[in-house]
Amino acid sequence: MEIASVIVDVPTKQTDRAFDYLIPEQWSGTIKPGMRVIVPFGPRQIQGFVVGLKTETDVNKLREINEPMDLKPVLNQELIELGNWLTEYTLCFKIFAFQVMLPAALKAKYEKKVRLANKGAVMDLPSKLQAFFENDGELDWDEALKMGLGPLLQREAANGHLEVIYMVKERVKKKLRKFVRPTVSHCELEEALQTIPAKAEKQRQILQYFLEHSDEVELKILIDELNTSGSTIKALIEKKLLVEFDKEVYRDPFAHRTFERTKPLPLTDAQAQAIGPILHSIEQDRHEVFLLYGVTGSGKTEIYLQSIQEVIEKGQEAIVLVPEIALTPQMVHRFKGRFGNLVAVLHSGLSAGEKYDEWRKIQRKEVKVVVGARSAIFAPFEDIGIIIIDEEHETSYKQEEMPRYHARDVAIKRAKTYNCPVVLGSATPSLESFARAQKKVYQLLSLPNRMNNQELPAVEIIDMREELRDGNRSMFSRKLFELLQDRLEKKQQSVLFLNKRGHSSFVMCRDCGYVVNCPNCDISLTYHRVNEQMKCHYCGYESTVPKNCPECNSEYIRYFGTGTQKVEEELGKILPEARVIRMDVDTTGRKGAHERLLSDFKDGKADILLGTQMIAKGLDFPNITLVGVLSADTMLHLPDFRASEKTFQLLTQVSGRAGRHQLPGEVVIQTYTPEHYSIELAGRQDYDLFYQREMLIRKLHHYPPFYYLALITVSHENLIKVVSATEKMVNYVRSQISDKAVVLGPAASSIPRINNRYRYQCLIKYKREPNLTKTLKTILDQYQKDARSGLLVSIDVNPVILM
Ligand code: ADP
Ligand code: ZN
Ligand code: ZN
Repeated sequence: MEIASVIVDVPTKQTDRAFDYLIPEQWSGTIKPGMRVIVPFGPRQIQGFVVGLKTETDVNKLREINEPMDLKPVLNQELIELGNWLTEYTLCFKIFAFQVMLPAALKAKYEKKVRLANKGAVMDLPSKLQAFFENDGELDWDEALKMGLGPLLQREAANGHLEVIYMVKERVKKKLRKFVRPTVSHCELEEALQTIPAKAEKQRQILQYFLEHSDEVELKILIDELNTSGSTIKALIEKKLLVEFDKEVYRDPFAHRTFERTKPLPLTDAQAQAIGPILHSIEQDRHEVFLLYGVTGSGKTEIYLQSIQEVIEKGQEAIVLVPEIALTPQMVHRFKGRFGNLVAVLHSGLSAGEKYDEWRKIQRKEVKVVVGARSAIFAPFEDIGIIIIDEEHETSYKQEEMPRYHARDVAIKRAKTYNCPVVLGSATPSLESFARAQKKVYQLLSLPNRMNNQELPAVEIIDMREELRDGNRSMFSRKLFELLQDRLEKKQQSVLFLNKRGHSSFVMCRDCGYVVNCPNCDISLTYHRVNEQMKCHYCGYESTVPKNCPECNSEYIRYFGTGTQKVEEELGKILPEARVIRMDVDTTGRKGAHERLLSDFKDGKADILLGTQMIAKGLDFPNITLVGVLSADTMLHLPDFRASEKTFQLLTQVSGRAGRHQLPGEVVIQTYTPEHYSIELAGRQDYDLFYQREMLIRKLHHYPPFYYLALITVSHENLIKVVSATEKMVNYVRSQISDKAVVLGPAASSIPRINNRYRYQCLIKYKREPNLTKTLKTILDQYQKDARSGLLVSIDVNPVILM
């Protein structure tokens, strides 16, 4: 007896385990672990993943697998194990762990159909229905509803004449095209050419073509190239000289582009020193994590490229992660330019079909390198030689839905399996990573200077409080306005950056820059317009908005936030002659819009590029000589202990956009809190000092990297239920772990209500709590089992966003 253990596509607590199914005779030996299969589950047909094979089971009445969905496994053994690990480490359902590793196209979609319960028993049905089910036909449920047959079908199903079945549907099909090739040898083709009469000119032309190119060719291309017709080709097929066949082609998003091939550059001394240990680790098949710390333009990407070169020469494969936002054509260009067709690209701009095709190039071992956003970390390579994560500090590497994994953790897990290095690159490493490098858990590699020792741009910090005092109420300081005008005259380009993330409102005094903080947490309070309240989302502290500033008694104390659209309007008033391109979620919604706007700007079709964080990265145009940050504070006061770190990273990142080439750059940062260390130090581009300052604060307030975090979020339509359930959890957690851990809550989440559900949370800060995972699992089990309570509980281990 051959039995398969299958994880079924039903994400609930009760079904979060492998179910046993009998492998029918006909599939014996062909069904393997890692394949998707269709299995009966209750009354339905659903998708599942085979995770193991065995010959015995305690299950009495085994059901049979219907059919396999794959000809070869879509998950290899390593990925199956990775899925199990992912389940443990993120506390998610197993089915989610497997699904996240595959392109969306391979996720099951279900169709509901109706058919006869007893074959051939069409006469049992009312006459109105009989026609649909003759010859054991099936009726699509949705279509039946459209025809108004719903109630009738329901009745016939209830009395046992009909049954409803669920069918698994594949989402994308492979793309097939028609090809032709000769069926006979070269000599025979020549002979055939002699026998074809001269007046059949077109046929002769085609044979001539195949005498010169013996390969297969796509039908459409042949027709275009020879200016011939389908019927001419058909004639030759009938003469058995040519054959027509279907062949799979990839949807290639880069098909219309050519990439100029580049060669490795001779490394500078600093680069050579940095790459040495990486190459060594590749040669020795040794797992190690490197933190490549170097300002933008210091040559990190060249190090990635040459490390990958080494890996490819060794016959191995490479994964490169870049943030979605940075996955610009420029970035893709550099990898395709060096490794050509050996590169697959995975990012969210591709259609499901394109992604699937890129994924299959990896699966079929047609490529050696994948460059992609977060989920590319699951690329189904089987001999990984290096994993690179560029801009490792980016928060987009953390997935905010189940499974809540961080790509960095997955990278290290896989690299350990393959005994290969991980390279984390950044100009502003996350505090966690830099701290690990300081403790020698990671090996630090530094590139202290820009290529050719280009100067970093000069940064000027403008105190917007003074502007106000001097009567300037506009969102542009006099200095920024002056420089914008200057660039317009010189025909150079400017970038204006507005941080929209900070749109969430905090309360600030426009006279002195004072921001109202929580007395217990040293984090800004969030403003709630409804009842004019300010709240702390970590501990639950509340207070009303003061009428006057507690610091300076000014009455200009209010909540804060501006949008890109408003800035654009204002620009139109003060610099009517300037041509502006606005880039934000509104203007970049459509596919390719992002790319088009950037290339317009590059081509000089605008003087000013105005946008949100999406313009902070990857922008590398020679004519940009001015960068303005309109309000550096907006992110600083988010209710998040990483606010300072993010502000510092972003300002450094944005400043790096100016003066990357010959022309020197200038940066203007407008702020209401110029004395804040993350703004002051970003102005001086002093990461090391920032790191030291921030570490002190993290230590003081028990935050990472000194403590780990776990966040429980509870939601329900009934506020009292949420609070009392969260309270119970808080108490339970407290009773299960040591008093060295800090357990905060219950407190309302930053977004206290979504879709009419109230949200509360419990935040756990801890160093070492062997009992915690078990405790959290118990909580999940308890609430996931009792679906009727209506409570939703989610747990995020090592959360990046605490909202
Ligand atoms: P980063 O990834 O740190 O921003 P890059 O690798 O993009 O830095 O390098 C910045 C610029 O310097 C690029 O234009 C790159 O082509 C160039 N560059 C990098 N390494 C070298 C080198 N060894 N010799 C000459 N130019 C280099
Ligand atoms: Zn004030
Ligand atoms: Zn607080």
